[in-house]
Amino acid sequence: EEEVMHCAGCGVELQMEEPGQLGYVPVEAFQKEPVICQRCYRIKHYNEASSMTLDQDDFLKLLGKVGQKKALVVNIVDIFDFEGSMISGLARFVGTNPILLVVNKIDLLPKTVNPNKIVNWVQRQVKEHGLRVIEIVLCSVRKNIGFDRVIEAVQRHRQGRDVYVVGATNVGKSTLINRLIADYSDLEAELTTSQYPGTTLDLVKIPLDDGRFIIDTPGIVYKHRMTEIVTKRDLAKIMPDRTLKPMVFQLNDAQTLFFGALARFDFIKGDHQSFTCYLSSAIQIHRTKLERADDLYRDHRGELLTPPRLEDLDELPPLVKHPIRVSKGRKLDVLISGLGWIKVNSESGADLAVYAPKGVKVISRESLI
Ligand code: GDP
Repeated sequence: EEEVMHCAGCGVELQMEEPGQLGYVPVEAFQKEPVICQRCYRIKHYNEASSMTLDQDDFLKLLGKVGQKKALVVNIVDIFDFEGSMISGLARFVGTNPILLVVNKIDLLPKTVNPNKIVNWVQRQVKEHGLRVIEIVLCSVRKNIGFDRVIEAVQRHRQGRDVYVVGATNVGKSTLINRLIADYSDLEAELTTSQYPGTTLDLVKIPLDDGRFIIDTPGIVYKHRMTEIVTKRDLAKIMPDRTLKPMVFQLNDAQTLFFGALARFDFIKGDHQSFTCYLSSAIQIHRTKLERADDLYRDHRGELLTPPRLEDLDELPPLVKHPIRVSKGRKLDVLISGLGWIKVNSESGADLAVYAPKGVKVISRESLI
């Protein structure tokens, strides 16, 4: 008969099979008493929080509980995948609590971009999403840009309340949390985890000086983002690690661009015009004739067209076609969630099609840059 053991720290069911997953404990650690999971171990001994994840339904349940308390909700989103990293239904679930929107990874935007314009753009998108936010702060947690403004805005808006940090996965939430831990926690104040009623997930709590806490919530996994469906190896490739270099392509109609074997962009009909691609420099862009595109994909994906490599291709859902018509004089971005976007500035209009793995969000939006 197998006995189920629970972590003495957070109460989660312990397991020895899957490192990196909830409740993992290495075999050696099982000898010690009390037994705590690796995650609690790291928090206890290194003051380091690692990211936990939840799917949409469980996440919204958790958010609903946040809505019943008085709290400041800090929502962190990724400027590289703004629409993909927005939490749908957030407004409904946090109730009357104020939302501070932290827009991370602005280090990826070209230096020439005016931050005020970005804030205005974000403001318009947020409004379109039906979300009301108390303030928008741009930052780069990794490059330490604007982090002071984040701290200052949190202090200004929390007014004696707990702070809940929410966000999709891969937006930089754990980087932010660990930064906060480094800045806030002193030797006396110990990080704790506490089990959230009604869920099996424990939350990391960073004590504040007035007895309140900054509470980290699990990252929400959105399968409509390319970042959540590719292998670890490819994730490192599709997430840009430095400032985006716009790649301009002058295309005639009936031409196609392949982004590795991950996506495809067809310029079907229209006058000769330019298209600007904003994506990781680790993605190879391959240009071909539209009439050759199907054959090229069939015969050369995973080789000439990479990432993914051939051995990882089976895991990628089949590409699905999204037709896009750009009317005369329109400026827009075609966003492939998690992969990047193509800026279209069409004086004479264009018929386009984007192919992306099934389930990955493809949208057109007002140009960011
Ligand atoms: P989480 O899943 O939201 O907890 O995200 P992580 O903190 O693990 O970060 C996900 C990825 O985004 C990592 O590769 C980070 O290095 C990267 N990242 C985090 N913050 C920034 C940032 O400010 N700029 C850039 N370019 N990358 C960042």
